[in-house]
Amino acid sequence: MSDIQNQLDADQASSHPATASHTPMMRQYLGLKAQHPDMLLFYRMGDFYELFFEDAEKASRLLGITLTHRGSSNGQPIKMAGVPYHAVEQYLAKLAKLGEAVAICEQVGDPATSKGPVDRQVARILTPGTLTDTALLDASRDNQLLSIFQSDGVIGLARLNLASGTFILSEIAIGLLGQEIERIAPSEILLADDFQHAAINLCKVAKKRLSPWQFDFDSGFKTLTKQLDTYDLNGFGCASLNPAICAAGALLDYVKHTQRTALPHINAISVEVTSAYVQLDAATRRNLEIDVTLRGEAAPTLYSLLNTTQTAMGARLLRHWLHHPLQDRNFVLKRHEAIAELIQEGVYSPLTQILKAIGDIERITARIALKTARPRDLSGLTASLQQLPLLQAQLLNSQTSLLQTLGSSLTPSNAVVSLLTAAIKPEPSTVLREGGVIADGYDAELDELRVLQNNHGEFLLQYEVLEKERTGIANLKVEYNSVHGFYIEMSRTQSESAPTEYRRRQTLKNVERFITPELKAFEDKVLSANDRALAREKMLYAEVLEQLAPHIAGLQANAGAVASLDVLCCFSERAVTLKYVAPQFTTEAGIQIVNGRHPVVENISQPFVANDVNLNPYRQLLLITGPNMGGKSTFMRQTALIVLLAHCGCYVPASSANIGNIDRIMTRIGASDDLAGGRSTFMVEMTETANILHNATDKSLVLLDEIGRGTSTFDGLSLAWAVAKQLLEKNRSYTLFATHYFELTRIVDEFKHAANVHLDAVEHGPENNKAIVFMHKVEEGAANQSYGLQVAQLAGIPRSVVAAAKRKLFQLERNQVAENTSQPDMFITHELVAEIPIHPVLRELETMQADDLTPKQALDFLYKLKDLINKD
Ligand code: ADP
Repeated sequence: MSDIQNQLDADQASSHPATASHTPMMRQYLGLKAQHPDMLLFYRMGDFYELFFEDAEKASRLLGITLTHRGSSNGQPIKMAGVPYHAVEQYLAKLAKLGEAVAICEQVGDPATSKGPVDRQVARILTPGTLTDTALLDASRDNQLLSIFQSDGVIGLARLNLASGTFILSEIAIGLLGQEIERIAPSEILLADDFQHAAINLCKVAKKRLSPWQFDFDSGFKTLTKQLDTYDLNGFGCASLNPAICAAGALLDYVKHTQRTALPHINAISVEVTSAYVQLDAATRRNLEIDVTLRGEAAPTLYSLLNTTQTAMGARLLRHWLHHPLQDRNFVLKRHEAIAELIQEGVYSPLTQILKAIGDIERITARIALKTARPRDLSGLTASLQQLPLLQAQLLNSQTSLLQTLGSSLTPSNAVVSLLTAAIKPEPSTVLREGGVIADGYDAELDELRVLQNNHGEFLLQYEVLEKERTGIANLKVEYNSVHGFYIEMSRTQSESAPTEYRRRQTLKNVERFITPELKAFEDKVLSANDRALAREKMLYAEVLEQLAPHIAGLQANAGAVASLDVLCCFSERAVTLKYVAPQFTTEAGIQIVNGRHPVVENISQPFVANDVNLNPYRQLLLITGPNMGGKSTFMRQTALIVLLAHCGCYVPASSANIGNIDRIMTRIGASDDLAGGRSTFMVEMTETANILHNATDKSLVLLDEIGRGTSTFDGLSLAWAVAKQLLEKNRSYTLFATHYFELTRIVDEFKHAANVHLDAVEHGPENNKAIVFMHKVEEGAANQSYGLQVAQLAGIPRSVVAAAKRKLFQLERNQVAENTSQPDMFITHELVAEIPIHPVLRELETMQADDLTPKQALDFLYKLKDLINKD
């Protein structure tokens, strides 16, 4: 810190009160800060990056670094916080995780020759959506920047994965924005200042507001055609997507601004047709726990169970596939066929071994394009590319079209491999500035400089012999160390007779060290060889990156093929290990699963009871009843997961699965308050249900769990009934409907396309201490008991409370029997009977003794009842 203090003081001393109230250095800082007002500015000072004023306060809070006050500027103490330059990556990673943007300002001038503060420039800008550095990225997750622009009632989306160059445009209806953000899961969102949408307020992603003019169509179009080097955008199928083009233009400008370099790896745009996927709304993604549990953890999830990929690229693609089940069955079938071949021929296992040795070609390629690739990236790339022919050899006799295509996309460019092997050492140093990166034999001049650098030993020996002879000092030594350079060393006493041209360089306790003009000249040559070698390496390295630029598209294709092959091998291995089968896509409508299992639960709950599902246009809705903990949710989710997996191209946990056309999976499961969004549990439940009723079709799979539980029993039951009716009559979706309302099971009497199934439990043991055992088997028909009290007991509710509940239940049930005799209303539930006043007619009936009445008395009694009803 004292260096900084000195610098601040010096700056202060040199400041001219008449020209500015700030020191020159602070003026420089404030100038740079003004250009980056909404990000933390890391200002390089010697071995530290310093933050000042509010930035310092914020950084100290976020990073836990000390906040200090040093010097003063404009009469105010300067708040400062700093991090050492060599550890900066770890702090940047922390800030990136927190969604903070950072501008990194480096010293570009030479401190020795600078008058006033050294020249500084912002060299890098890191924002959450534009990271490409390995240290700052999660290897198993894509990092995406999303740009949103609304016009003419449509939302245009553009998203870029800068670490791979994937650039995708799409357009969606305004109401679908929340769902899309959830699907894309961006790390940062770009928006116009004036854009408002509830989904934006709800999402916690870092947002960057830009001026509306930055989304201008004409300039967006120009930016895109310039980037893609085309006359127009017709070739990319996005010419008519005006709002998306506006979003894409703003996005590209922003990325160029943050990267400060060309982006040659962004060489194509693809248009995403969301209808290409089996739609999963935001709630469904969460409820199915695809890659995050409902508690927000990474495991156990479908992804954590399935991920046995060997490369980071494969891991990212697996996550993507699981979130993007395809509707195009022909395409999915190709994956199934490939898996069949990989399993049958047993080649997935040797392929897996080869894949292990492959690095992140995709991200390295992006860094090559951005000119930020490090030496080890290039040596890693060489090693990885050398594995590709081995993969190809394994796929040589492939029968399936997908494996054949992947095999041919795995051909590495010979030019790239030869360039890299010739130019880069197999184990280069981590950073270029240390040298030792360019391979020996690649460049004659560099080789010569290295000889000079390294082979001075020979010269020293010869020079020592000569000088000994010349001076007659037998113990004289000629040596070198990195601090003092070259010197002639002799003892104190001998130094008396040193020749006059010997100039003293250093005096130690017993020895003197000298330098001669000749030795000095040699030293200069060696030291300048050092500098020149470093400069030459830098230049050659930049040239190598330049030479690799035309091969970026090829490298991207290699990376894509490795990733796909990795996921297919992973699916094959999982299918064998976890005993999954190939699902069948049928032309008949419906879902028939035999012995289906829940992939994640079966891994935790052993033994798992497999269950069948049969849904078709004549058996559209299954009303599932049964005790809590009986397995209703598990059964519903496993059905959805099997359908999802089938459409991802994965085998499924079942004995067989025949699946008709499915366009979307919609779920309403579980209850959670959305406090941040200001919605109660019931409101969340109803919003999600409304979404289902508006969008589910006769090809949708709908899961509904406990609809109506968040309100009073009458309301809830009525709602549940009406929702089921709508799904049966209007949406005609395949529906799994779990409920605690037994009364609802009578819906099958009214709608022949509904059926009852139930999960059972049995009680055994002595009357006063019965234990409950869940069968987890789905049976036809409605459940006849809810076992609520038994489950409560199992959960640890005190026995006295359970006993009191049993007495109350008995009383309620007795009342209900009486009630039901007069009013067979399906909506009357156990809990409510006690609250309903008993009708006088019932009271009369209850006390009347039919056997004691004469016919006349019976007739009078009837008249009396009639009167009572009329009065009522
Ligand atoms: P419900 O929705 O009926 O309350 P769940 O589906 O949540 O019940 O299941 C509760 C627990 O029962 C699960 O966490 C799991 O441990 C176990 N379970 C559910 N279904 C099965 C099954 N088919 N085989 C084995 N265990 C199961």
